[in-house]
Amino acid sequence: MIEKIIENAIKNNPVTLDENSFTGDDGLIYCRKCGVARQCRITLGGEEMTVPCICKCEKEADEQEKVRERERDRLLAKEREINKAVYYSFPKDNEGRINKMRSWTFENDDGADPETMKIARNYIKNFDKLKKAGKGLLLWGDKGTGKTYTACCIANTLLDNYQSVLLTSFSRVVNELMGMYDGKQRYIDELCSYDLLIIDDLGVERETGFMREQVFNIIDTRYRTGLPIIVTTNLTLTEISSCPDTDKARIYSRLLEMTFPVEVNGSDRRKQAARKSYNEIRAMLTAD
Ligand SMILES: [Zn+2]
Repeated sequence: MIEKIIENAIKNNPVTLDENSFTGDDGLIYCRKCGVARQCRITLGGEEMTVPCICKCEKEADEQEKVRERERDRLLAKEREINKAVYYSFPKDNEGRINKMRSWTFENDDGADPETMKIARNYIKNFDKLKKAGKGLLLWGDKGTGKTYTACCIANTLLDNYQSVLLTSFSRVVNELMGMYDGKQRYIDELCSYDLLIIDDLGVERETGFMREQVFNIIDTRYRTGLPIIVTTNLTLTEISSCPDTDKARIYSRLLEMTFPVEVNGSDRRKQAARKSYNEIRAMLTAD
């Protein structure tokens, strides 16, 4: 039985002399690189036979492959774990798939607003400290300047580092709450337990008493957890900091207390788009 196995091993994996090996004085084939024999003699049932064996470099290569395999497994497990978390982090489309926001990362940034990106990167760099201090960001500026993109860059980096993140909007949350008979506060508590809560597009929600009440409740609950919030809004800092409506002023002043305001200035982005279209038309008109 054992003889058969060894015979097969020799047949399937014969050691042949090549440019990487030489024949030693004992007639066995040796590895030129490490000088260790790639064959050895064994005696089985009184019969001597030559069988392949592993030289030092082959052993090292095997070990390296095992390390690589373990690393691959580790990364796959990490990806699976993160993807599971990510599923709950971003809004879903009608088919229940998470939308393109997972791909809104620093790596995919078009470089149109380096100043804001620098702030976002530094926010992550100091996240442990800022999280302890409960400090978030208020990303304000015109439509299409990349506020949500910036928030997503932060979200995706934190998700990759095993932090829990939820990106949602007040409209979405209050819609959920409206459909609930009970458990509203439990829902809000859960919402406010993420390492980072991102509220996208503050200021577009409908102006109802219930909405205002719940928006304040969410902000207040988050405030009491001491965890950070990032808010994106088309409102200007003046509109937020000196709002004549007392209900809203109460919400906004709490928000200002919890965040550091950053004007996301898309002028670079717009200028770049304008330059691109100018160049395209110019190329069209000046073509031979
Ligand atoms: Zn070798």
